[in-house]
Amino acid sequence: MDLDLVFLGTSASMPTAMRAPAAFLLRRGGERLLFDCAEGTQRQLQRSTVGLPDLEEIFLTHFHGDHFLGLPGMLKTFALRGRDGVPLTVYGPAGLRELFRQLKPFLGRLPYPLTTVELEAGEELERGEYRIETFALEHGAAALGYALVEHERPGRFDVDAADGLGVPPGRERGMLQSGEVVTLPDGRVITPDAVLGPARAGRKVVLAGDTAPSDVVAQAAHKADLLVHEATFGASEAERARETLHSTAAEAAEVAKRAEVRLLALTHLSTRYFGSELAEEARAVFADTVVPRDFDVIEVPFPERGAPALVKAGARPVSSVDAAEAEELRELLRSAGIDSEVGAEGENDPLTVLVAEDSLEAAQEAIEALTEPDDLLAEP
Ligand SMILES: [Zn+2]
Ligand SMILES: [Zn+2]
Repeated sequence: MDLDLVFLGTSASMPTAMRAPAAFLLRRGGERLLFDCAEGTQRQLQRSTVGLPDLEEIFLTHFHGDHFLGLPGMLKTFALRGRDGVPLTVYGPAGLRELFRQLKPFLGRLPYPLTTVELEAGEELERGEYRIETFALEHGAAALGYALVEHERPGRFDVDAADGLGVPPGRERGMLQSGEVVTLPDGRVITPDAVLGPARAGRKVVLAGDTAPSDVVAQAAHKADLLVHEATFGASEAERARETLHSTAAEAAEVAKRAEVRLLALTHLSTRYFGSELAEEARAVFADTVVPRDFDVIEVPFPERGAPALVKAGARPVSSVDAAEAEELRELLRSAGIDSEVGAEGENDPLTVLVAEDSLEAAQEAIEALTEPDDLLAEP
């Protein structure tokens, strides 16, 4: 069962040329759960390798504009695309129903069933193989963090033990594997623990949303495989972080350390940061920290198969470096005092932004954390 998280928007407050505001797509098997839906989220999905699926569940952390303004447009797109029977449920903290009451004139009549569910911190949604836990954030307004927590999986089936006990191949073994007690034809009763190894841990992915550093978050994220935590500011703006109920990178790292998570992903970056400086501040406290860019993916394998890992540009189509993006990059380089030109090797090759060899290093520094330097920079 694959489990991963697609970073669709990683900036705070407003979009930048390289980062969109908050949105994450959690993919588990065939399920697609969207967390937050800032302005432009539907286009971020369309531009990604995911496309825009007929989402059935959307979870909002809170109602600041940089977390939900993409929702009305997306709901209208679903309507225009002719979605009819497929129901959609939107979850969020208290205030969700009032938000939709105010959106109603803009949404009009939607041709599919739309349900809103207000959740309180501590409420859980049971989903069979996993549950979604909610927890309170420290952000002034009503705000919820979410954790996807998989149930323990049954232990490995011990074929030798089953043979030794004389359990016939077939149905009985399947029943034991799924935790049922079996009575053999000779009357002996076999319990699952006789043929199964120890239960294996499920996975846990925690999306904290906007928050000042919080013990509640640290508890909710205890032993998580992946904690996505905001790092709106760096250490030099710690005061501002406190005033606005946000976190610095180092504070997020403290939470990750206390929670003993396996991997920390920082997001919700204020526009002045590139990412690398925040990563550095955080790693001084908690080494296993990444700062994903838009269209990066973090894969979360079962613990016995390895550690969670950042896949750079994992959801970015190869051809997405279009002329407009190349121009944005040149503008960025220009503002760093570096001249560049755009070229492509062949007619169908991706565009490349070229800089002089002696400014290559400076250019790489300037765009570090914004894009994939190796893909975009080449010596002329
Ligand atoms: Zn925000
Ligand atoms: Zn906020």
